[in-house]
Amino acid sequence: MSFYGGYPEYISVEQQKKKAAKGLKKLSKKGKVLNPLEVSGKKLVTSELAKLWCSHVEDEIAYCQTRLSKGRSYLRHGSVIHLEINKGIVNAIVSGTDIYQVEIKVKPLEKQKWQNIQQLCIKNPEYSYQLFNGELSKQLLDDFLSKKNYIFPEYNEIDLECNCYDFYGEACKHISAVLYGIGVLMDANMQNLFLLRDVNYEDLLIACTSEINQDLHMPTMNNIINENNLEDLFGIELATSPHS
Ligand SMILES: [Zn+2]
Repeated sequence: MSFYGGYPEYISVEQQKKKAAKGLKKLSKKGKVLNPLEVSGKKLVTSELAKLWCSHVEDEIAYCQTRLSKGRSYLRHGSVIHLEINKGIVNAIVSGTDIYQVEIKVKPLEKQKWQNIQQLCIKNPEYSYQLFNGELSKQLLDDFLSKKNYIFPEYNEIDLECNCYDFYGEACKHISAVLYGIGVLMDANMQNLFLLRDVNYEDLLIACTSEINQDLHMPTMNNIINENNLEDLFGIELATSPHS
């Protein structure tokens, strides 16, 4: 860590990029498998889901505008050299004046909320197409983000950690970069949201088809997936042997 007059030394964008590239190379050489984030477009994120996530971060999780702005800049200039989301946990490495480790723990979505969301899918079978294709409508997003279903983690459901000199429990610039980075990964694949909340995305597809299948006296997708029950699905009796 470099200090100048008691404050961290100013680093230009070019220096920042060089440091990130150097850090990436160094860690790769050590055998660390990295998932660096790249943001190529003018906007950090483009999907409605990811935009809502970024607003949520700014309104509910990280409050310091300067750190948020620095976090966006870090992300844009390739300083998030590693970011992975697993069930309820985000691990990241961010290059700044040094290389910093960020860990964000997220509590699993409350069971009641997940049940509410599944009920919504039963009532709205058209959500299956949207969930399958990752093209979420405004109605679906409004539903998933209404108060009793709120799928994003709230402030008290998140535990932030960074090993930098500026971390005192709140989001530092490295954590801010990672929080925006989560949005970038949601843009790439909205299933990352479900992974973050440790819920099974396929439950929703099953819920979407359950009402239709009941109306048609057909098995649910669950039955189809788990049992491959073709006889029930097509209402025919399959021959037990080709000669019978
Ligand atoms: Zn930090």
